[in-house]
Amino acid sequence: MDVNSKIIEVPGIGEKIAKSLSRVGVNNVEDLIMYFPRKYTDYSNVQKIRNIEPGEVTIRAKFENVRGRYARRGIHITEAVADDDTGKVRVVWFNQPYRKDSIKMGSTYYISGILEHSGMYYQINNPSIELVSAFPKNTARIVPIYKESKDIKSHQIRSFIKELLPVIDSISETLPGSVVESESLIPAKNAIRELHFPSSREMWLKAKQRMAFEEVFTLALASLTNKKEIKALKGSIIKFDEQIAKNFVKNLDFKMTEAQKIACWEIIQDMQKHSPMNRLLEGDVGSGKTVVAALAASVAIANKFQVAYMAPTEILAKQHCQTFLQLLQPFKVKVALLTGSQSKNERTRIVGKIKSGQYDLIVGTHALIQSEINFKNLNLVIIDEQHRFGVNQRTELQKKAGRLPHMLAMTATPIPRSLALTLYGDLDISIINQLPPGRKPPITKIISPLNKEKMYADIDKRIDEGHQVYIVCPLISDSDKLGVKSVEAEYEKLSKTVFSHRKIGMIHGKLKTEEKDKILEKLRKKQIDILISTTVIEVGVNIPSVNLIIIEGAERFGLAQLHQLRGRVGRSTDQSYCYLVPSNAKNPPRRLKEMVNNDDGFKLAEIDLDIRGPGEIYGTRQHGILDLKVAKITDINLIKKAKKSALGIIDKDINLLQYPRLAKKLEALRAVVNLN
Ligand code: ADP
Ligand code: MG
Repeated sequence: MDVNSKIIEVPGIGEKIAKSLSRVGVNNVEDLIMYFPRKYTDYSNVQKIRNIEPGEVTIRAKFENVRGRYARRGIHITEAVADDDTGKVRVVWFNQPYRKDSIKMGSTYYISGILEHSGMYYQINNPSIELVSAFPKNTARIVPIYKESKDIKSHQIRSFIKELLPVIDSISETLPGSVVESESLIPAKNAIRELHFPSSREMWLKAKQRMAFEEVFTLALASLTNKKEIKALKGSIIKFDEQIAKNFVKNLDFKMTEAQKIACWEIIQDMQKHSPMNRLLEGDVGSGKTVVAALAASVAIANKFQVAYMAPTEILAKQHCQTFLQLLQPFKVKVALLTGSQSKNERTRIVGKIKSGQYDLIVGTHALIQSEINFKNLNLVIIDEQHRFGVNQRTELQKKAGRLPHMLAMTATPIPRSLALTLYGDLDISIINQLPPGRKPPITKIISPLNKEKMYADIDKRIDEGHQVYIVCPLISDSDKLGVKSVEAEYEKLSKTVFSHRKIGMIHGKLKTEEKDKILEKLRKKQIDILISTTVIEVGVNIPSVNLIIIEGAERFGLAQLHQLRGRVGRSTDQSYCYLVPSNAKNPPRRLKEMVNNDDGFKLAEIDLDIRGPGEIYGTRQHGILDLKVAKITDINLIKKAKKSALGIIDKDINLLQYPRLAKKLEALRAVVNLN
């Protein structure tokens, strides 16, 4: 048996257990030995019965007087007395009638359990017992506790791992010798063994440290290897001409913030290089990423290249199309819009003109990556709200260039620094850490659903002041999900009661495109006071006169989503408000409280990472591979150390094929950790 064997080959594992292990991602022996305990109970201190005190105890004793009986309510009780020459103690098992016949009288056992006072006696309840041996697994040691399920219990996993100890001992070192040495790490096989069956607390700590380092090191190495490869690729230079920037800026009706200027500069620098740009522009909602993208586009277009701009929703693509027409007006740019809802004729016409190069800038949704679309001279790909797209979708668009184009990805869901250093180490990052001047962060409150009168009064007040209001509901129409607000029901209710004197609109994803457009246009023209909406308005929608957003059923949304929704207001110099209304009056979840206390998207992203872990957040859930087992992704010191080591390896050009375990892991990670 070796690490590649199927788990069904492990003694004691049958079809049923194999199936249930496979559900937690354990398919072969390698997976199983890397399935680490969730926690431990320290039963390593073997005591004389004379000395034991209430709490977790381990004794070494023989049994006498083992009896079984049924007590009240049909509970079966096995009672015994444990005797070790220094004293005796009562031992009791509930509903384990097999105990009576399985105990070998006259043999010495380790007995580990909790000594507690019960009625008249001190007794050890439901202890684990095991014949004394040199390698006990359930008693008399630091005992590993694994994640259990109905079909599989910790003591079973302990048995399997014990069977596999010879395999663990045959594991070759994962990390290059130089790294092991400079970081004073214990060997891989020792670390794995110690994590399952710690020989002491000290060794367990060393094992943990070693595996944590390995995890982060491998992640960093994967992304740095990607980066190195990308840097070695050749693309086409986009030359910069100062006059272009001057004309662009002259046309703006505001001054760019310092942070926007720096981001523009970094992008322009990148595009002038032979190796294609691979840059992520992070900036909180409303920080003004669009202008930066538009400047980059104008430079590319002045170089006679085509630019593709992909946005996650149709509403957003349309809005951007208009913005670009205005921002790029001095350059007489020909802009096309490509979305899924266009008629076949219209589409054929546009597709033809894209191919013949009659359009300079093509703004669109996922429709951009369909096979019939070909560009003449694409050399800059801009992805808005990049976290909404999968790796494949980005690659698809890039492939259409027939060369490796420059890529600018933008996001308002910032990648926390810890992850940026590892997961996305292959990307260059620009950060807009500043909002346009005069913006005040929205005032955020949690409103109890029992306390809406005042909230409705606030809505009236905002409208009287000349503003408008969004009310976001989790569902479109009422469903079986009791108590969850729906757009249609809320529209019915509010327009007939509290707000019968107001103009109310409603919007959701099921409406036809033209209808959605009409509604947003009406909102823009202030022909709607209150817009009741699903999350279709979540990203990008930019209507600065709306200054209050109410999020119904707020506990149903994730942190990033709440922050994005809140970003729909606060888009002018007026004070704005965000009210989070949970569906019930229970204590609201931590997410909502964090929303009240934080307006900084970066801070919220760190918190989200802390609450949910990286795999969940970065949409790579199916690749559980990103979810670190031992390391804490927020451990910046560890990350820095690991990254430094990884850089050392890359610089030395070490042949990683010497380290098959590492090479294999790297290959899997590189496929996931790749924005390019
Ligand atoms: P996001 O970063 O969320 O994509 P947008 O690019 O949509 O933000 O910008 C939000 C709003 O701020 C837009 O109305 C835009 O015109 C405006 N804006 C952008 N930069 C500035 C600036 N430097 N000064 C004033 N307003 C700005
Ligand atoms: Mg945007």
